[in-house]
Amino acid sequence: MSTYHAPLTDIRFALHDVLQVEPLFASLGFEDAGRETLDAVLDECARLCETVLAPLNRIGDEVGVRFDKATGAVTTPTGFKDAYDQFVEGGWTGISAPVEFGGMGLPHGIGICLEEMIDAANLAWSNFPLLSHGAVNALHHHGEDWQKDVFLKPLVAGTWTGTMCLTEPQCGTDLGLLKTRAEPQADGSYAITGTKIFITAGEHDLTDNIIHLVLARLPDAPEGSRGISLFIVPKMQVGRDGSVGTRNAVRCGAVEHKMGIHGSATCVMNFDGAQGYLIGQPHKGLMAMFTMMNTARLGVGIQGLGLATRAYENALRYARERLQSRALSGAKLPSKPADPILVQPDVRRMLLTCKALTEGGRLLAYHAGSLVDSAAHAQDPLARKQADDLLGFLTPIVKGCLTEWGNECTYHALQCYGGHGYIAEHGMEQLARDARITTLYEGTTGIQALDLMGRKTMQLQGAGLRVFLGMIETFCTTHAEDVALAEFVVPLRAKAAEWQQLTRSIAERAAADPEEIGAAAHDYLFFSGYVALAYWWARSVAVAEASARPETFKAGKRETARFYFTRILPRTLGHAAAIASGPASLLSIPDDALDS
Ligand SMILES: Cc1cc2nc3c(=O)[nH]c(=O)nc-3n(C[C@H](O)[C@H](O)[C@H](O)COP(=O)(O)OP(=O)(O)OC[C@H]3O[C@@H](n4cnc5c(N)ncnc54)[C@H](O)[C@@H]3O)c2cc1C
Repeated sequence: MSTYHAPLTDIRFALHDVLQVEPLFASLGFEDAGRETLDAVLDECARLCETVLAPLNRIGDEVGVRFDKATGAVTTPTGFKDAYDQFVEGGWTGISAPVEFGGMGLPHGIGICLEEMIDAANLAWSNFPLLSHGAVNALHHHGEDWQKDVFLKPLVAGTWTGTMCLTEPQCGTDLGLLKTRAEPQADGSYAITGTKIFITAGEHDLTDNIIHLVLARLPDAPEGSRGISLFIVPKMQVGRDGSVGTRNAVRCGAVEHKMGIHGSATCVMNFDGAQGYLIGQPHKGLMAMFTMMNTARLGVGIQGLGLATRAYENALRYARERLQSRALSGAKLPSKPADPILVQPDVRRMLLTCKALTEGGRLLAYHAGSLVDSAAHAQDPLARKQADDLLGFLTPIVKGCLTEWGNECTYHALQCYGGHGYIAEHGMEQLARDARITTLYEGTTGIQALDLMGRKTMQLQGAGLRVFLGMIETFCTTHAEDVALAEFVVPLRAKAAEWQQLTRSIAERAAADPEEIGAAAHDYLFFSGYVALAYWWARSVAVAEASARPETFKAGKRETARFYFTRILPRTLGHAAAIASGPASLLSIPDDALDS
């Protein structure tokens, strides 16, 4: 069975040493987010994850959720409810929610570290509280006062959970195709009718009520994505005074059987004239839903990071223990029948890839988490705007790259186990299966790439990219004379210039041929992700070397950064070449020649 020990040393290094969050949080008005509090929260969450959630990971996979066709009820795996109750009692559901609604009001920049641990401990379980965060955000920003009064407190407290109901059988990526209808009622509410599929936590036995946030069309709605409105549809009817009434006309029709996250309920939800309330303006539902989706996108990126970290941790332990073959340069442990596989360069390649992508990815994600706080609370309007631009730019990179790297790392980790990784006993195949969903839900990697390339880079004229390039330039200038860092600073500066040039050249070619954007998007996403990680690795070495941390820690950072710069960053060459080749090699082949 795979185990989980929260990587608190590296989490603290990222938060305190590199990102220096205490002064940042203090400047944003989070007076209670001092180091002592943050460390205590991290320790306590790690304990909960290691002792309560992680031991349920296997049973969640083996037993899965159970569906009762007669009643539409969904039962979560043994232990899930008890763990959820402990989670609620500990106040974890509202850790970074506003104090006025019962939350602890801690920064999102710390909430994201907790999410990493929770996801790593038990991804399927983590999906139950995950979407409540998004629902809280959407209601907080777009709900009417009475809606906030009635729905936010129980969602923040975790006594109710939230869902996000977008997908329909004919409507996945393209939300303009959705058909669910909303009919205005005499009392100001709406009757919601339609079928939503793949709804995470659509039905379960963890809470008494479930608050569905549903996209639907009003009778006079324009066609396409401009005609979509957002509604609150509770499982148990809720009056404007907060009173809970009878069962609403929404019911789970089936639970999907799937490749991984068996303990997560993926539901078909049938709305049959269910009572709902409009959130925000008619036909402006997508805007409100995007608030929820952006929170969830960062959250899913973190899922990739969590699983990769857990996979790496287990593979490293196994590689130290598993005795097979000898080192090519001669026996390292002559008294043993064989050397540990850790001595083999190929095994080290896989392990170091995991270490480089997870520790670098951690900084990328945590930085994005802290930008949520800066974008909302920075005193200076320009600082708020820059944080918002950068957050928008980084969100598809966090979601797209961290989830793809999560898949890559779980596969490397499984490979380190050889055949023992493929069988169920060690739990590595579960991690690989569980990781697979992260590149699909909350917008596939292809859609993240289009968001980054099309909207965040072209439409917004590179506003977020400019902020990030400015950070790289400041770092490179500060360390320009540091001989020990030159091996990182020089290539980083060159890659940043290439990134800028590449963006410009795509923009120029896209003006003549719109297909350029779609053809370049995937490679641009990864080119961006690898350069971003190069920045975080270079900064990690600079910070570690200047710190009082033990020599092994410093060597870990320095040598992993060397590995990253020499063996992973060159992946950008392939991406740049693919971008330069343009759309022809993708579009020239006639459709009917694809199977000729
Ligand atoms: C386990 C699970 C949980 C889920 N949870 C939820 C949930 O809670 N709420 C919810 O509403 N939905 C949920 N979903 C749905 C999920 O978000 C969708 O599956 C996803 O958005 C993709 O939609 P689709 O499956 O219809 O694929 P499609 O939209 O049919 O896409 C198929 C392929 O075509 C590509 N493609 C489509 N359009 C484009 C384009 N314009 N450019 C480039 N490529 C394109 C996609 O990238 C993908 O590779 C869940 C799904 C699963 C499997």
